[in-house]
Amino acid sequence: MNKIKYCFASVLFLFAAVTFAQETEEEKEREPGHMNQNRFKQMYEEFATPNTYRSASGAPGPDYYQQQADYKMDITLDDKNAKLYGEETITYTNNSPDNLEFLWVQLDQNVRAKDSKSPLRNGGGVNFAYRASSFVQTYVTEAFDGGFNIDWIKDAAGNNLSFTVNQTMMRVNIPQPLKAGESMSFSIKWWYNINDRPNDGGRSGYEYYPEDGNRDYTIAQFFPRMAHYSDNEGWQNHQFWGNGEFALPFGDYEVNITVPADHIVDATGVLQNRKEVFSKDMIKRYEQAKKSYDKPVVIVTQEEATAKESSFSEKTKTWRFKTESQAPVRDFAFASSRKYIMDAQAVKMGNRDVMAVSLYPKEGNPLWEEYSTKAVVQTLQTYSKFTFDYPYNKAISVSAKSIGMEYPMICFNFGRPNPDGTVSDRTKFGMISVIIHEVGHNYFPMIVNSDERQWGWMDEGLDTFMQYLTEQEFGENFPAAVAPNDQYPSRRGEPSKIVPYMAGEQDFISPIMSNPENVYQLGNNAYGKPATALNILRETVMGRELFDHAFKTYAQRWMFKHPSPEDFFRTMEDASAVDLDWYWRGWFYSTDYVDIGVKEVKKYYVTSKVTQQMQEYMDARNLTEADLPPLVYLVDENSEDFNEDLKDKAPSETSQNLKEFMMDNMTADERAQVKEPKFFYEVTFDKPGGIPMPLIVEYSYADGTTESITYPAEIWRKNDTEVKRVISSEKELVGIVVDPKLETADIDTTNNSWPIKDEKSDFDQMKEKVKG
Ligand SMILES: [Zn+2]
Repeated sequence: MNKIKYCFASVLFLFAAVTFAQETEEEKEREPGHMNQNRFKQMYEEFATPNTYRSASGAPGPDYYQQQADYKMDITLDDKNAKLYGEETITYTNNSPDNLEFLWVQLDQNVRAKDSKSPLRNGGGVNFAYRASSFVQTYVTEAFDGGFNIDWIKDAAGNNLSFTVNQTMMRVNIPQPLKAGESMSFSIKWWYNINDRPNDGGRSGYEYYPEDGNRDYTIAQFFPRMAHYSDNEGWQNHQFWGNGEFALPFGDYEVNITVPADHIVDATGVLQNRKEVFSKDMIKRYEQAKKSYDKPVVIVTQEEATAKESSFSEKTKTWRFKTESQAPVRDFAFASSRKYIMDAQAVKMGNRDVMAVSLYPKEGNPLWEEYSTKAVVQTLQTYSKFTFDYPYNKAISVSAKSIGMEYPMICFNFGRPNPDGTVSDRTKFGMISVIIHEVGHNYFPMIVNSDERQWGWMDEGLDTFMQYLTEQEFGENFPAAVAPNDQYPSRRGEPSKIVPYMAGEQDFISPIMSNPENVYQLGNNAYGKPATALNILRETVMGRELFDHAFKTYAQRWMFKHPSPEDFFRTMEDASAVDLDWYWRGWFYSTDYVDIGVKEVKKYYVTSKVTQQMQEYMDARNLTEADLPPLVYLVDENSEDFNEDLKDKAPSETSQNLKEFMMDNMTADERAQVKEPKFFYEVTFDKPGGIPMPLIVEYSYADGTTESITYPAEIWRKNDTEVKRVISSEKELVGIVVDPKLETADIDTTNNSWPIKDEKSDFDQMKEKVKG
């Protein structure tokens, strides 16, 4: 009987103590405004299920495959009539386990066909002003006819293959399915009218120079290209409407380009017949450039280029390019003009050398000779450090009015001085930035080959993030370029720069995980916000070491492969041991914003006397103090339990239980060394914004010292709107600032300080000053 009674008593005691602890904990978390939607839930519903093609780790799975499309092409540029002719043989290898009943080929130029539906997909009324060129294009002239003319398609035996064109997609009807593991070759003969790019628009075309009657050609998505077929999308045959870019398989290319004999050409691939197309002087200077690691060597001078502007050779030359099978490409582009000046510099890349090359007309100088190749070099160095060594033999930056556009090894970039040769900072930094961005696209999506048609952010966002890091390193390496401000003025990447977008009207914002055709503000959606999200992830959430390793792991896992968004999201977790589902959910899958503030600060003192609140707790449970372990009571300065005697005393002086505990459990030496906190504060932080973020707090004390504490984002996991923290200190707390360095893109900083900053009085003070 005794035994049973004893057991009962101890169970009761234990129960009381345990529930006391639990209930007080939970009460604190269960503040009003708590929402039951868990922003920390794992993303099983949103993510595709891992399988043998794509592993749960984010790496390619054991059955991962990708298709191969090899091209042999003969291209002729008719400069006089601005027409492009081509004959190509595609060898398509079906590495998928599926039998393909037909093949889809992309006819991107059909977006410029007379009957293109692309211009008809947009609504909208009259503008209050038009660019003269677009007014002429829209209302004055007949629609330009820039679509593909397909002369024929033949199989390897020379038999015609039937085909069906649906806008920008062409289905090639093959007699038997292409079985798993098989390849087939077929040829296409085509031509089209080249568009006046600055006036007609587009990513490819010519720019016309009325002063000398020349054109320069920056030519891309100019040939019928195989559509991409994959384990997660099947055929990517979503139409090319103009915004959603490209999805392309890797392959080897052999391309012969015939142009007027006085043109300078460069293109994707390795030039095979340099001796036939370069002059002796050019060869000599090119050999010098191959050994010049510190500055570019001019290969075609401005004088030489200018001298050719009036000659218009009637002869032709054929430039032969071939890609290397260890570094396949997903596309091919070229530039051609007699106006081109050329310079080049060598860049060390592991134990290989890569050439950084620039092509530009005299209208680009003095800006281009000064900065283009330098920007290419910096891009290759910074990007390679964060991803993998640049695997191609060269990277070319071509001057092209008003666009920035990327292709393997070659890109087209805006930025021209004023006609009198002067250059504004806006033009200079705009040009350096676009070159970094477009050369950077070699890594994303040319090598880490994501599907741009579906996911704009996977290349634009990652590239814009890397662009920001590269710009900052460019500023450090070329202080003269950024003087007197010392820092490169990056347009995107800093958290504060994305605030106006994220704080904007919700109806005009889409999640990053949207198709580029369907979003407002594509620049903010696919470039600015993901770049900023990655920058914040690196600097504030993961830290540089964990982020950089994970980012590099992603780049190396998917180099020369086709990643999906999940492959990126999963790899970033897999390589870092940081749970990021909440981050992807908030930043990539929602249109929420960040807003975290400090709401209230309460002061507390330690007392021996049972407080009213404690008494109520005990009464409700039929308990007395004797049923509970020795307790220490905290009393709010504004409650009835408070009395002035508690002030300025050590807690062991005002709590008998504490004093006894210390006497019983600590030696005299230990007690002597203890620093008892004299100030207790309960700080309430609130979160009006939807995205949970680390709570970065700077506490200031009366003695002038500060203390910074970053609470992990998980602090919001049980209460999405409000959390409290207790601060115990020997020093009096005088100020709190949330996110003092503006690291989190917090859209409203008026709630970030305690005591609340009186902005009006600051303003009055300033007015006084001005008057004085
Ligand atoms: Zn881009």
